Amino acid sequence: MKEKKTKQPNEVSVLIGYAGKYKVLTFFGMFLSAVAMVMGMIPYFCIWLAARDLISVAPDWTEATQIAKYGWMAFGFSFGGIIVYFAALMCTHLSAFRTAANIRKQGVAHLMKTPLGFFDNNASGLLRNRLDGGAGETETLLAHNLADIVGTAAMFIAMIVLMFVFDWRMGLACLLAAVISVLAMFSMMGGKNAKLMMEYQQAQDAMSKAGTEYVRGIPVVKVFQQTVYSFKAFKAAIEDYSAKAERYTRGVCRVPQSVNLTATEGVFIFLVPAVLLIAPSALSAGNFAGFITNFAFYAVFSAIVSTALARIMFASAGTILAKNALARINTVMNAPTLEITDDPQTPKDNGVEFKDVTFTYDGAELPALDHVSFKVLPGQTVALVGPSGGGKTTAASLIPRFWDVSSGQILVGGVNVKDIDPHVLMDKVAFVFQNTRLFKTSILENVRAARPDASREEVLSALHAAQCDDIIEKLPNGIDTLIGSEGTYLSGGEQQRVALARAILKDAPIIVLDEATAFADPENEALIQKALKTLTRGRTVIMIAHRLSTVVGADKIVVLDQGHIVETGTHDELSCAGGLYERMWKEYNQAVQWKIASVKEGV
Ligand code: ADP
Ligand code: MG
Repeated sequence: MKEKKTKQPNEVSVLIGYAGKYKVLTFFGMFLSAVAMVMGMIPYFCIWLAARDLISVAPDWTEATQIAKYGWMAFGFSFGGIIVYFAALMCTHLSAFRTAANIRKQGVAHLMKTPLGFFDNNASGLLRNRLDGGAGETETLLAHNLADIVGTAAMFIAMIVLMFVFDWRMGLACLLAAVISVLAMFSMMGGKNAKLMMEYQQAQDAMSKAGTEYVRGIPVVKVFQQTVYSFKAFKAAIEDYSAKAERYTRGVCRVPQSVNLTATEGVFIFLVPAVLLIAPSALSAGNFAGFITNFAFYAVFSAIVSTALARIMFASAGTILAKNALARINTVMNAPTLEITDDPQTPKDNGVEFKDVTFTYDGAELPALDHVSFKVLPGQTVALVGPSGGGKTTAASLIPRFWDVSSGQILVGGVNVKDIDPHVLMDKVAFVFQNTRLFKTSILENVRAARPDASREEVLSALHAAQCDDIIEKLPNGIDTLIGSEGTYLSGGEQQRVALARAILKDAPIIVLDEATAFADPENEALIQKALKTLTRGRTVIMIAHRLSTVVGADKIVVLDQGHIVETGTHDELSCAGGLYERMWKEYNQAVQWKIASVKEGV
C-alpha cells in the first residue's frame, strides 16, 4: 500500500485537484470507505464470540444464551457496513463526475487558447479521444479505487490488530499470504517491468489507432484496388501488440501471477501448517477450547484476505489506467498556447509586411520559410507563387497566427501580429483556404458564422455577391436548407463559393486566399473568379494561385521555392527575367494551349 502512495503522489493528487471544492467529498468518501471496511470486519469478531461461547458450554448448547445477540450484532454491522460503503461511493462518484466534467471544461478552454495550426497537426478526433476518453477513464480510479485503497488499508490495519488480539501465530500465517501476494503483484508493475507494461499498453493504443485508420482508408483501398500493402501498418501494429503482450504476460507475469493467485486463494496453505505446529503446545497447555475458537476465527477470517487482495489488484489497475489517462489529458492541457499581449496595439493601416521571417514546423529539419521578407501595401494585391511545398500556405497561415514565427516579424498595419489583440487581428483578416469546411447547419448559419450579428438580408446579398444564386435556387429550403443532411451536399466548387460569401460578409480589409480556384470545374471557376473580384475589390489581398492567369494583374508576385524568395516583381518584369517564374509561365501557357488545341480538334 505504502509503495503505491509514495510512487504516484502526483498523478492522483493532480486528478483530485480537478475536482475543485468537490475534493472534500473524495476525502470524505475515502474516510467512509475505511469505516465501512472496519464495520465489515466486526461480524468476524462476532463469530469468534459465538464460537467461544459454544465451545465453553459444550455439549450443553442451551447454556449459550448470547448467540442470538451476536448474530444480530453481526447482521447489524454487515448491513451498516454496506450502507456506509454505499454512502462512501456516493461521495466519491459525485466528486469523480465533477472531476471529469472539469477536465473536459478546462481542456476545451485550453484548446481555445492554442494556435489554430495546432489543429492541423492534431486531428480533432484524436484530441476528442484524449480529452473526453481520458476524462472518462479517471472515473474508475476516483469513484472506486481510491475509496477501496483506503478501505483496504484500514482493513489491513484492522487485520494486524486482530492478529495480536487472538493468536498472533495464526494471524501471521494469514498475513503472510497477504504479504506474499502483494509483493508478487508489485513485482509485475514495479521497476523495469513497469516499462514493459507501459510498452504493452502503448502497443495496444497503437493497434487501436491503426485499426481506425484502416477503416477510414477503406474507400481509398477499394478505389485503388490495393490489397496486402494497405494492411501493412495495421498488420504490423497487431503483430507488435501480440509480441509485446506475450513478452509481458509470459516474461513478467507468469510466475508472480501464479504466486499471487495461489497465496490469495489458498490462505489455508499457510494457516493449516501453522495450526498443526501450534496444536501440540496448545493441547498440552490445556487451552483446547481457546485454540479451537481461534482456529475457527482465522479459518473464516482468511476469506477476507482474498477479498482484500482482489481489491488491491483492481485498485492498482485503476491507478495505472488513471495515470495513462492523465498522460493523455496532459497532451491536451500542455499544448502550447498563443501568447496574448498585455499591451495590445492598433494596426495603423491595412498593409502586411514579412520582415526576415523564418519558420520551422515542430519536428521538421528544414525551415518551411527561410528569411522571407516582402511588403504588401494597403489595397495592393500580392500573389505568392512557386512549386508545391515552396512555403506559400505556410506564409499565409502565419498572418493570422496559425503558428508564430520562429524568428523575424509579421506586421499588419505596421504592428507585429503578436502585439495585436487576437480578436482585432481576426476582424481585420479574412481567409479562404484550400479545404473549406462547411458546418452541418443551414447555409444561412454557415455564412453568418463570419459575423453572427448579420441580418438575413446581409447574408443574402453576400451570397449574391459570391455568385451563389444558382445554389440557393436549387435547394429545397433556400438558404435555410441544412447542409450535409438528407442528401443535400454541395460540390467542392459550390462550397468554395459559400466560403467566399462568408468572407464577403465578414467584410475584412485584408483578404488571404489560398488556391481558392485550384479544384473547381470550369463552370464553377468562372463564377468563383467573379465572386473573387467582388471580394477583393478595394482590399489588401494576398493570394496563392496555381493558375498563373489569375496573378497576371497582381501588383507584385513573390516566387517562393523551398522556403526562399527566389524572385519578386510584376508579371511583366518576371515573365522575361529568365528565372523560375518565366519557366512556370511558359509551362502554364503550354498547358493552356494544349487544352485549347484539344478543344479545337474536338478531342
Ligand atoms: P505550399 O503551400 O507552397 O505548397 P506549404 O507551405 O504547404 O507549401 O509547405 C511548405 C513546407 O512545410 C513543406 O515542406 C511541407 O511539407 C511543410 N509543412 C506544411 N505544413 C506542415 C505541417 N502542418 N507540419 C509540418 N510540416 C508542414
Ligand atoms: Mg499550399
